[in-house]
Amino acid sequence: MKPSAKEEGYRFVCYLPDGAGAIFENIEECKLERFVKNKNHASWGFSFNKTDWEFAESATYANCPHCLNDVFKSDLAEYSYVCYVCNENFYDYEVYE
Ligand SMILES: [Zn+2]
Repeated sequence: MKPSAKEEGYRFVCYLPDGAGAIFENIEECKLERFVKNKNHASWGFSFNKTDWEFAESATYANCPHCLNDVFKSDLAEYSYVCYVCNENFYDYEVYE
């Protein structure tokens, strides 16, 4: 049994659509990180809401122009960043660096 998100110093932020996982805040580092449902227990993670979560990626150092949360690298070729809280993609010049 993995330690809980709280024990590891994480706060739940939101679930993502299409099985992309969930966003948690690393409280000590004030940084958002994306986690996916743990399938093979290969990577570091924690348990939250009766599910094991595995670390996937950290946010960038840029911030969303709408909600000011950390944005992640976008999967879409035409965009640089994605805010998972707003579920919106952004160009380089739109985010706060
Ligand atoms: Zn946002």
